[in-house]
Amino acid sequence: MTTTPVSAPSLILPFDIKNRLDLYVDSVSGEISGLGEISYYPKENWLCVSQLHLIEQESSGTETELKPEALQQFLAAYLTGKGDPIKLRFHWHSHGNMGVFWSATDAKFCAGWNAPWFVALVANKKREYLARLEIREPFPMTLPITVLVEPYYDEALAGQIAAEVKEKVKEKVYPISHVQRHWDFATNQWILEEKKPDRDAFDIEVQELVKDFVEKNGRNPTKKERKEIRQRVKNWSGNGETRGNVDQEWVDAMEREFKTERGYPYEDDASWCGI
Ligand SMILES: [Zn+2]
Repeated sequence: MTTTPVSAPSLILPFDIKNRLDLYVDSVSGEISGLGEISYYPKENWLCVSQLHLIEQESSGTETELKPEALQQFLAAYLTGKGDPIKLRFHWHSHGNMGVFWSATDAKFCAGWNAPWFVALVANKKREYLARLEIREPFPMTLPITVLVEPYYDEALAGQIAAEVKEKVKEKVYPISHVQRHWDFATNQWILEEKKPDRDAFDIEVQELVKDFVEKNGRNPTKKERKEIRQRVKNWSGNGETRGNVDQEWVDAMEREFKTERGYPYEDDASWCGI
């Protein structure tokens, strides 16, 4: 069996429209209905609701009736107010606390609306929405369509928050030497944690290198050589974010020590630094 793909447009409820619709729905104990404007976006295949209109009506628990005079009055005012009747292709109504479905009254209403096409929507207090696209020409057709609600997003608020955070929050950037990583066997994942700069460890490293130097050269390092040794430790510990000028033998020895001390599977530099 083959199926024929259908690409019906989706009905888009922008968040401000959706909010307005929900407020109308919540404002009465029973049903309420109205009209609205729709724009079609061919690229996205979207039917987007751009305006809601409320018309004088009598609302009851199970139905709402648009009075013909009220409708005519609305249309006259709409047209003189530069409304675009081409866009007036949306009918919405609420089922109050009941579910969303198409009742016989709804079907009758849709059949009676004389327009080449329009969209009808039923909503309720549970924030459920059901929509159908009615096409009249060249032949009548009723197509169920998906309702997509735009998530709430306040652009002005987003801008304010971004500016406030930029002013008050500094994101901490850890230099390589200040982040260490260990394997957590309980959760089976790498844990990154800050390693506090260790002044004592730094001095001990320098002292040891000085001792090595003395053993190797039979004399104390000069002021310049001592400075080089300090720089070497500094580089190794990452303050310069490089290990470029540290002698390889010493690096290898330290890495072997790290491997056994911390007991994690050694991978490579970049991976254990987590950077
Ligand atoms: Zn209904």
